[in-house]
Amino acid sequence: MESTLVILKPSTIQRALVGQVIDRFQKKGLIIAGMKMMQLSEAILREHYAHLVDRPFFPGLLESMRATPVIVMCIKGRDAVEVVRAMTGATNSRKALPGTIRGDFSMSGQENIVHASDSLESADVEIRRFFTADEIFDYNPALMRSMYAPDEL
Ligand code: UDP
Ligand code: MG
Repeated sequence: MESTLVILKPSTIQRALVGQVIDRFQKKGLIIAGMKMMQLSEAILREHYAHLVDRPFFPGLLESMRATPVIVMCIKGRDAVEVVRAMTGATNSRKALPGTIRGDFSMSGQENIVHASDSLESADVEIRRFFTADEIFDYNPALMRSMYAPDEL
């Protein structure tokens, strides 16, 4: 089973959408392996968004991601990285398809509700960036056999 990192961004906290976003992941059958609230520092954001530090919008992104605490989640499931990215939708929420989280809940390229890891390699690094080992829980829900065929587990 893969694990991926999701961040419920400050806009999600401000707009009281936390429950609805988490509900989507749970209804899909994804497993919450870790979850906590934290205030992101500039240092962790510079690391997390290292690919964007030279872009003109980076100061605004930094401010936006520090506006309130965020909720970080480690989400587990078969092909979880790809599944969660598909549920998230395009970066620019106005281009994100209806039915995706960004497509349904937001109108902005910046204030786009969630972060989701974009590859298995990033997911591994990002989970370790935001969680310690003892904050990730290795359990399976009792309904696992109703969620997957035996050869998918
Ligand atoms: N972002 C932005 N303007 C842009 C591109 C990105 O404000 O033109 C912000 C947006 O919040 C996005 C984050 O920077 O979610 C990270 O960008 P990335 O390209 O990694 O997109 P993502 O993986 O979040 O879809
Ligand atoms: Mg990204």
